[in-house]
Amino acid sequence: MSDNKFPFSGFSSVAIHGGHEQDPNYAHLTPIYASSTYVFDEAEQGMRRFSGEEKGYIYGRWGNPTITEAEEKIAALESFGITDEQGNALALKAILHASGMAAISTLMIGTLKAGDKILTHYSLYGGTQELIEKVLTPLGIEAIIIDLRDVDAAANAINADGKIKMLYLETPANPTIQCVDIEELTRLAHSKNLIVAVDNTFATPYLQQPFQYGVDYVMHSTTKFLNGHGTAIGGVLLGKDVQHMSSHITKVHRLLGGNSNAFDAFLLTQGMKTLEVRMERHCHNAMEIAGFLEQHPAVSKVNYLGLPSHPDFNTAAKQMRHAGAMLSFEMKDGLQAAKDFIDKLQMCIRAVSLGTCDTLISHPASMTHYSVPKEKREQYGITDGLIRMSVGIENVQDIILDLEQALA
Ligand SMILES: *Cc1c(COP(=O)(O)O)cnc(C)c1O
Repeated sequence: MSDNKFPFSGFSSVAIHGGHEQDPNYAHLTPIYASSTYVFDEAEQGMRRFSGEEKGYIYGRWGNPTITEAEEKIAALESFGITDEQGNALALKAILHASGMAAISTLMIGTLKAGDKILTHYSLYGGTQELIEKVLTPLGIEAIIIDLRDVDAAANAINADGKIKMLYLETPANPTIQCVDIEELTRLAHSKNLIVAVDNTFATPYLQQPFQYGVDYVMHSTTKFLNGHGTAIGGVLLGKDVQHMSSHITKVHRLLGGNSNAFDAFLLTQGMKTLEVRMERHCHNAMEIAGFLEQHPAVSKVNYLGLPSHPDFNTAAKQMRHAGAMLSFEMKDGLQAAKDFIDKLQMCIRAVSLGTCDTLISHPASMTHYSVPKEKREQYGITDGLIRMSVGIENVQDIILDLEQALA
């Protein structure tokens, strides 16, 4: 934990100062510690460090001061304003990873064994879906995939199969921006002693704090809004059982080898300082754009959680501060219209990924979901004319101007 005891009253103060410790050389910012190993004064000190009796770094795969700062900052943000059952400030342990996928891998392999099953929602990040299918299933860890917006269906699934050990949520989810109810599902899962894990990538701790509902683990692809500038791939796994996180889960993380590095951690720390101001602007812009698209004659449908027309509007309003920066919409004239629109963009960027300062626009049918058969895609709401937007923080009039000329 950082030694800063100031009672921050606002999220931004924690985003800026949280997790920082005075550098021994008085550098203002924690430097990029580019060193693979750490020196012992004497053999006895090595022994004390290995036994955990003395705090200190040993080897780069196990930790690094630049990485520690990023981890402490994320933990402070995910726990901001939350108290535990005893009324104390919630303590969390965060472990930074090389990518979001590395964080999910540590979570799954660290908490499940052959024969266990995962209950999850059908709309999941593609990489997570493939990890379950291609890596976990052959290891004997299978998933039961249903529509988790139906809490009764979730209860029936859990009652029907005693092998379900984890409830895995991603909300909001890609690319139809569906939401599931974290509070209700966590209450249900905990009544059956399941582990609850949430992918909080789309929302960030500024918009949504799953630990408020007592979940066990939260993960992020820090590549997205937490970094905020598209400068590094990264992931984080957070847990509220600090003892278990510091022992078993840390061991699994170190042995799987999905560690982050000092340079990426430095970029992440700088990016997170502006999380609140960026998210406010992202969400404000997204709301205006959703309104613009909804009345445009070339668009048949807009999926945005801030619009009462979204089926999960109420769930989002309940658990999110604002409706987020992600939206998708359908072109009335399908595939060719969608491709033409994408090709005509002048300022917005044609790219996958999300969460950067600039607006990113992708076409799932020809990009992220190209390999998914059309019938399966359409079952998940991914039609040929669907466009996904990660709304940036440019001047909103400029984004609208670009969309308008590309839709014309
Ligand atoms: C990007 C993403 C991931 C995977 O993260 P990487 O950093 O690309 O490994 C997982 N979940 C969601 C919701 C994502 O958007």
